[in-house]
Amino acid sequence: MTRVFNFSAGPATLPESVLRQAADEMLDWHGSGMSVMEMSHRGKEYMSIHAEAQSDLRELLAIPANYKVLFLQGGAIGQNAFVPMNLYRGKASADYVNTGEWSKKSITEARKYGIVNVVASSEPSGFTSIPKQDTWKLDPNAAYVHICSNETIGGMQYHWTPDMGDVPLVADMSSEILSKPIDVSCYGLIYCGAQKNIGPAGLTLVIVREDLIGQAMPITPSVFDLKQQSDNDSMLNTPPTYAIYIAGLVFKWLKKQGGLKAIEEHNRVKAALLYDYLDSQTFYSCPIAKDDRSLMNVPFKLKDESLDEAFLKGAKERGMLQLKGHRSVGGMRASIYNAMPKEGVQALVAYMKEFQKQHA
Ligand SMILES: *Cc1c(COP(=O)(O)O)cnc(C)c1O
Repeated sequence: MTRVFNFSAGPATLPESVLRQAADEMLDWHGSGMSVMEMSHRGKEYMSIHAEAQSDLRELLAIPANYKVLFLQGGAIGQNAFVPMNLYRGKASADYVNTGEWSKKSITEARKYGIVNVVASSEPSGFTSIPKQDTWKLDPNAAYVHICSNETIGGMQYHWTPDMGDVPLVADMSSEILSKPIDVSCYGLIYCGAQKNIGPAGLTLVIVREDLIGQAMPITPSVFDLKQQSDNDSMLNTPPTYAIYIAGLVFKWLKKQGGLKAIEEHNRVKAALLYDYLDSQTFYSCPIAKDDRSLMNVPFKLKDESLDEAFLKGAKERGMLQLKGHRSVGGMRASIYNAMPKEGVQALVAYMKEFQKQHA
């Protein structure tokens, strides 16, 4: 068996030890005589998996007691509707910051449910930097302020936490959740699809402050109603049980790595390997402002685009896959989430040097 270095932006690489454990437990979970996939979500075995995943996540992120953790479905794209339906709370408008492709999707969807004010945008910089908070044209009466804390396609990440005072801050953290410690109390609601940095596709994680629950628009589908899902511990309908089980194994793996401070350090080292090399020569380049570069998704371009195909082919031959940039921006993108080992990034940089030598 050969495992490749998978640089996919999502669904993305998972820790090998997690996959091995899942394989070992596939047919018979802990002597139950069945796979987690086959268990009743109301049975005591599955309920213990569900509860343990929740408590491990709470421990990892130090989630305060007045926040609920929900395991939902519908992806981050679903959250683009879920958030306005639950959080407008009768207010006239919501504020959104546009830092790229994922922010734009959130803005377009929210406009179906209410007035959206785009209070700041990365557009003037060609989506290469995050607008500083003192330039945001905030409305103190906004229902909430929405940001995408890591733009997976563009490769920009907030390395600071916006301070919105009494207005709840909502963040799409799909591609950075659990990559570093965060202060959950700074947010009203955090959401993410699991398939970047947590586990399999199909699980959507929501962390929400309790006082924001219970004011959904009357049109809100029951499965999207914060209060109904929270009252039913995310089991208003059948939750994505197997995805939650794998996420739970990933949470345990993270604890074993030393928690989020340790994983952040690891992520910084990996990203620095790549960015330092990108900045040391001119054959490749990264367009993103240094202060706003993502530690998770590293976009880069070859000076001579006509070499792109040859670059990707050589990478594939060396067991490095999914390096092609998103079709909307072109070039390359290396996604280096928690589960990407340092050896993967070292192999990539070594190959980039070799390729440069051959073609410079
Ligand atoms: C991948 C991604 C999404 C889309 O998530 P789905 O689970 O496919 O709905 C939204 N936002 C960000 C930041 C993402 O990286």
